[in-house]
Amino acid sequence: AKHGGRNTYAKFSPEMDERMQERVHLETLLRLAPAAGQLRLVYQPKVNLCSGEIIGCEALVRWHHPQLGLIPPGKFIPVAEESGLILPISDWVLRTACMQARAWSDAGLPRIPVAVNISAAQLLQQDLAQWALGMLAETGLAPELLELELTESLIAQDVERMIATFDQLKAAGVKLSIDDFGTGYSNLSHLKNFRVDTLKIDQSFVQNMLDKPDDATIVRAVITLAHNLRLKVIAEGVETAEHCRMLRAHGCDEIQGYYFSKPVSAQEFEAMVRQGRRL
Ligand code: C2E
Ligand code: CA
Ligand code: CA
Ligand code: CA
Repeated sequence: AKHGGRNTYAKFSPEMDERMQERVHLETLLRLAPAAGQLRLVYQPKVNLCSGEIIGCEALVRWHHPQLGLIPPGKFIPVAEESGLILPISDWVLRTACMQARAWSDAGLPRIPVAVNISAAQLLQQDLAQWALGMLAETGLAPELLELELTESLIAQDVERMIATFDQLKAAGVKLSIDDFGTGYSNLSHLKNFRVDTLKIDQSFVQNMLDKPDDATIVRAVITLAHNLRLKVIAEGVETAEHCRMLRAHGCDEIQGYYFSKPVSAQEFEAMVRQGRRL
């Protein structure tokens, strides 16, 4: 008998085995999802706090499986990242978002940029600028109507390469924002070298700021930091009138969250813009 064989086996508890099986199962199903038409994008409005107008939106992916039902991105994006499926999925997301924004632009809707989330695994595997600019060319969308949301931790991974990538995207006119700002541990001194347009305050700070003074301090600090660097600042996860009031008092530029609207279908978003819905 092999020495230590039992111990090796003992590491795989039944629960772990179950989780691994579920992951493999999910991966098998996810591989088929884009071609099977099971992916959808929903769009969440971004609103200017001064004018109250809709000034943009974020595209968020949804997976509707005929048997499993709706699977949230928090559950399948990590699976996609580990299996390499993030590339075809991201490709589907970016193409769909660009085509939608192009259709809105062609239909005479006010010029509203669509933001797309960029995953860390994806950045390691491909040239972001080449990919995004290629997709703009393919779909005929004006670069100004595309925004890319990247997380802080992701940018910190390879600073030199990211600066070059951002410069390339900025030169073309693409908008860039740092998502979940405040949750990473990036070197703040690098921030001035990244030519981003917007800092997006993470929703955890927004949701805690009313009862936790430290979180309120962070929110105010991020707003000041953004403005001193001549960047725009948006707060995400804004759920109540009180959140909204406090952010306005601190000079935050834009908000996004359930208070104004949940993520909605392309049709619903278009109707909202056409009706001139305001905060
Ligand atoms: P995120 O980019 O930080 O997106 C914000 C999340 O907060 C979204 O969850 C959104 O539906 C939710 N949200 C918006 N307003 C509120 C609010 O007022 N309160 C609360 N509690 N939540 C709010 P969702 O759609 O489940 O997405 C979760 C995460 O999955 C995203 O976080 C993003 O990291 C990732 N994700 C979503 N779509 C994509 C995609 O197309 N590609 C990639 N790579 N990642 C995606
Ligand atoms: Ca985002
Ligand atoms: Ca975020
Ligand atoms: Ca997040």
